Amino acid sequence: MSGMMLSVRDLSASYGAARILFGLSLDVKRGEVVALMGRNGAGKTTTMKAIMGLMAQRHGTVHFNGHDVSRLDAYVIARLGLGFTPEDRRIFADLTVMENLDIGRQPPRAFADGRPAPSWDEAKLFKLFPNLGAMPDRRGGRMSGGEQQMLTVARTLMGNPLMVLLDEPSEGVAPVVVDQMVSTILELKSAGVSILLSEQNVHFCGLVADRVYVLEKGQIQWSGTMTELAASSDVQRAYLAL
Ligand code: ATP
Repeated sequence: MSGMMLSVRDLSASYGAARILFGLSLDVKRGEVVALMGRNGAGKTTTMKAIMGLMAQRHGTVHFNGHDVSRLDAYVIARLGLGFTPEDRRIFADLTVMENLDIGRQPPRAFADGRPAPSWDEAKLFKLFPNLGAMPDRRGGRMSGGEQQMLTVARTLMGNPLMVLLDEPSEGVAPVVVDQMVSTILELKSAGVSILLSEQNVHFCGLVADRVYVLEKGQIQWSGTMTELAASSDVQRAYLAL
């Protein structure tokens, strides 16, 4: 399993009596950018929450960077170096940009082979997201959706993750923010950080993703390379909002 960063087997999850995920398996290799695609309600967010230990009712196994995290709590999984940027952002409205970033701070880490993982601080993040650098004292509640999205990603990076789960990074934000999300993902990839992102936008995935899993009704219906997906209008028509 060397070279494997995330390995999910037979993952199921429910909200109360409602079963949402049905025996889902997927892998992300070290340094890979993998997209989880599917329409609204397909189960993308639930998959990320289940991987992250945020679903009370989950079954199956999740291995992250050689650790079995299947039964661990979310904060323990985060401390092992798995970052998560939730779709609802969870920015603290009363705290400033700097204070929000500070909350994400974790010690530097190394990959399994001992190579140091990229470590982030405010100065590096403000280069990646100049808008945030221009408003260090702005409170979260007074920022636009796009600025909050940048801050969510930046706060996750303050934790120096080995891998990041990005839930719909391009959703509902202006094109200039989408561009910054693309650059950020590519910069993380070039630094060796693995990424699993959920997305509905084939164009966005085409700019960043190596491989794709297509989800519908809580099951993987198709998987392949981004090039294969781009060429398959049948798959796109069947499972993605076109
Ligand atoms: P979206 O793009 O809309 O976020 P998604 O692919 O991420 O879609 P999920 O958010 O994982 O989909 O939702 C999968 C299913 O789980 C949907 O049918 C949704 O209604 C249901 N669901 C989500 N959250 C809850 C909840 N807290 N309680 C009950 N059902 C939920």
